[in-house]
Amino acid sequence: MPRDAIKVCIDRILPAGLMLEASKRSIEENPENAGVIRVRPGLGVPARSPMRMALVTGRKWKNGRTLRVSFMGGEPYVRDKVKDFAKGWCEHANLGFEFGSDPDADIRISFAPGEGSWSWIGTESLVIPKNEATMNLGWLTRGTANDEYSRVVLHEFGHAIGCLHEHQNPAASIKWDQQAVYRYYMGPPNNWSKEDVDGNLFDTYARDKTQFTDFDAKSIMIYAIPTEHTTDGYTVSTNSTLSQTDIQFISTAYAFAPKPSTALSVGSPPLKASIGAHGEVDSYEFSVGKRGHYVIETSGRSDVVMTLFAFGAQSEPLAEDDDSGEGTNPRIAARLDRGRYIVRVRHYHPSGKGSYSISIRSEDASGTRGAARKASAKRPARKGSGKARAKAKPGAARKNSTKRRKAL
Ligand SMILES: [Zn+2]
Repeated sequence: MPRDAIKVCIDRILPAGLMLEASKRSIEENPENAGVIRVRPGLGVPARSPMRMALVTGRKWKNGRTLRVSFMGGEPYVRDKVKDFAKGWCEHANLGFEFGSDPDADIRISFAPGEGSWSWIGTESLVIPKNEATMNLGWLTRGTANDEYSRVVLHEFGHAIGCLHEHQNPAASIKWDQQAVYRYYMGPPNNWSKEDVDGNLFDTYARDKTQFTDFDAKSIMIYAIPTEHTTDGYTVSTNSTLSQTDIQFISTAYAFAPKPSTALSVGSPPLKASIGAHGEVDSYEFSVGKRGHYVIETSGRSDVVMTLFAFGAQSEPLAEDDDSGEGTNPRIAARLDRGRYIVRVRHYHPSGKGSYSISIRSEDASGTRGAARKASAKRPARKGSGKARAKAKPGAARKNSTKRRKAL
């Protein structure tokens, strides 16, 4: 592969001062973002190393959104090409792009030559000053081939709707020849620093902060990898179209027909359900008529993760659990006030699917509470679980923190 063949986009990292604001705005935009990103002072997300086709789940736009896109410069020919290729995502994601000249647009595209190609990730654009671009397409001209338009525009719009670099997917295990990669990217035309190379190639995103698929070498979100950059001859060709996994992933992240909530009743027999697609999230709604102790748990062989919310307050989980139940099943034991609640269930594994059953019962009914306690006490500590039980109460936002807590 000739040296000038690799023109890649470079990650942009929000300054610490904007990180918390970005998280706040992201949750306002889409409450589901809060299920992933725990906003704590000093813990910015995505930070450089916790970054990777992994979508920063905490940076998703509201599902169904029409994003306004404006151009800051650029000749009509190039703008039209960008419009045509960007729409490739909209066939598969429940998002629309409305191109115009609104200075208040959600995505603002400049064409500054010499600044390369880059885009802020999803809702990060909300905290970028309106007079600044949120995406730059630095080398697209009238003479650029259609394949290159497709590659660059789909890749940068992938970032703009929340996708990260596939080669930094937590599931990737590329055997980089690091010295060769440093030599390549630290030289012209990229002239990156060592930190840029680390941040854009070697660091993988944190498993617990990203929603990701199995590693996909055909993803539009991966850099081309020449054979001399790996120690085992592994190579990735230039991808200029969306892969099947890209399509499957984004159509789940921004589903046209999200699964509706299913009603769950306290004390009813376990309800059978299944996670039928990568990244699918099942949602259940139940009512508590009387204040007391309740246990919500799943059964079956699927390794699922469960999150509890008060109805209408889905930006702040009351509790989350992975493995406190039988086997790898989650179990949340919580003191709940009278009211309505939402439980979300997803698979622990990025490519996991499978069936499970879910139930909720009161622990206050005569005889059952003591029996349940006894059972809990006998249960030995499990892998990856700091506590045998998750406890929570509305308003206090106490969360169970198993080591395997993951993104929604
Ligand atoms: Zn990129």
